[in-house]
Amino acid sequence: MAMLKTILGNLLRPSRTRAPADMPVVPPTYRGALTHDAGRCTACGTCAFVCAPKAIHFTQEPGVSVSWHFFIGQCSFCGLCEQNCPTRAIHLRADVPGSMNSASGDGLRLESVIRLQPCTRCGAAHVPLPAATMDALWAAGADEAERGYCPDCRRWAASARLRTAFIPDGAVAEGGRHDR
Ligand code: SF4
Ligand code: SF4
Repeated sequence: MAMLKTILGNLLRPSRTRAPADMPVVPPTYRGALTHDAGRCTACGTCAFVCAPKAIHFTQEPGVSVSWHFFIGQCSFCGLCEQNCPTRAIHLRADVPGSMNSASGDGLRLESVIRLQPCTRCGAAHVPLPAATMDALWAAGADEAERGYCPDCRRWAASARLRTAFIPDGAVAEGGRHDR
């Protein structure tokens, strides 16, 4: 009798197969498809360093570009790359990774190309700072000419400013230029 009740109960219930529109709600904290913003990336390598399964790596074309690569097949969606990226260039979206699109591959890989720029002082090719970071740094009225400097020349300019604060005018010469 109990078995008949169960069978009848099952027959009278609606279908339990989920339709696409009937999927459970994805919580906003879900770590899904990964995105990367080349305009914010400084190619510091932190994301690759913290990624235990080595889903992220870099390649470079010397003097031209650095490329950031991600392979979803090795990703455990731990979120460490997003947490540790200093410029918030990585984001794990709340949608399923299968929807990830890639301009450069099979949907399983992402590639972002970060173009190098020549330093306006010494000409060395370098990864430029993200525009938002530059705006924040230069909001305090720093010399606009330094915006295009490479890290070495930015260090040189900072130490030159320190020296001019203590040494009379003229004592800081272009001899402070670093060698390459
Ligand atoms: S994505 Fe972030 S952590 Fe990774 S290299 Fe770029 S700036 Fe560094
Ligand atoms: S989410 Fe975790 S496993 Fe995936 S790329 Fe980022 S650090 Fe690596």
